[in-house]
Amino acid sequence: MADQRGLDEVVTFTSDLIRIDTANRGGGDCRERPAAEYAAARLAEAGLEPVLLERVPGRTNVVARLEGTDPSADALLLHGHLDVVPAEAAEWSVHPFSGEIRDGVVWGRGAVDMKNMDAMILAVVRAWARQGVRPRRDIVIAFTADEEDSARDGSAFLAEHHAALFEGCTEGVSESGAFTFHDGAGRQLYPIAAGERGTGWLKLTARGRAGHGSKVNRENAVTRLAAAVTRIGAHEWPLRPTPTVSAALTELAALYGVEAGPDDIDGLLRKLGPAAGLVEATVRNSANPTMLSAGYKLNVIPGEAVAYVDGRFLAGAEDEFRATLDRLTGPEVEWEFEHREVALQAPVDSPTFARMRAAVEEFAPEGHVVPYCMSGGTDAKQFSRLGITGYGFTPLKLPEGFDYQALFHGVDERVPVEALHFGVRVLDRFLRTA
Ligand SMILES: [Zn+2]
Repeated sequence: MADQRGLDEVVTFTSDLIRIDTANRGGGDCRERPAAEYAAARLAEAGLEPVLLERVPGRTNVVARLEGTDPSADALLLHGHLDVVPAEAAEWSVHPFSGEIRDGVVWGRGAVDMKNMDAMILAVVRAWARQGVRPRRDIVIAFTADEEDSARDGSAFLAEHHAALFEGCTEGVSESGAFTFHDGAGRQLYPIAAGERGTGWLKLTARGRAGHGSKVNRENAVTRLAAAVTRIGAHEWPLRPTPTVSAALTELAALYGVEAGPDDIDGLLRKLGPAAGLVEATVRNSANPTMLSAGYKLNVIPGEAVAYVDGRFLAGAEDEFRATLDRLTGPEVEWEFEHREVALQAPVDSPTFARMRAAVEEFAPEGHVVPYCMSGGTDAKQFSRLGITGYGFTPLKLPEGFDYQALFHGVDERVPVEALHFGVRVLDRFLRTA
């Protein structure tokens, strides 16, 4: 059981980490080193031997291994990123890097994404050191840089160049799961992530014949691009539920006592009400046009026009995603991946999933654990290259009206102290049984 000092420390560590500004502006503009040194010092105080690793000076990662009692058991990776997305101080009620604790709530950028989990990991490991607790499996702890941009200086670098540190790891646990989702009708759901959609950020290029804007031109690059973008934006993607998404739908349907034919997932989603929000973005691939660029003068037809599309695909549906893009763009518009990351699928019938479920149910008996698939991506994509199956499990018990998902990258990001205490208790229980 987590001790009082562990409960105090998780709050202090969350606040301290928020005060270390690790805003990641992209393109290498971030410095995680002070946060990494802070985390490493807290681990060293608990008797661990953390190593600091950098591809680029200042972009620091921390890795440490806690030895388990059963050397034959597979190891578990516990990872959290140290960087955060930027915050515009003028929009906030408190300074986003103040880490202020007011009325039982810790405020600041990273409070839910994900300095909270970094702090929970530190608090649990330190409580174990005081209590002489050793886990059954080895637990590898990784605090990473650069998750909020390309992961190039963070988890991708670790997976490529420091694979030996993750020897024996078969499963990983990190952000975006086991938080309270209030359905508006009194039910509390605790979605645990067992999969992620893949990332397919696309650059579209249309070429044509440049010329005077007053002349006949049937090879206008802007017209060609606009037509392709319209087709992509209007495309109705077919349903492609993965095993995790199907399991989520089955459990939700049972919980809400609703039914729908296997081919009528959209009908089922309508019957689920607000809870449909947990799955609706992951029943199919998607592609949303986001940026357009062409031309330099109103009366000149440019020879080229460019658009960007945020595409996401489900595990097993990437080939179809590519073929569909070929068809929708047509022969006059080329497309390429500006950035591509794999889709992930983790089993929901594994002992590890069952242990995460049991840990949540023990401390939130009124809650209902359901599996879900993340619509976006995390560092788990990079660690999957090492054969590590990723789960999203950052337990937080949140009061009604506390819109966790809106706080991710949002203004006035904050987390209740009680939620952090719950997180430490649940994480401690899960890791003891893992
Ligand atoms: Zn995150």
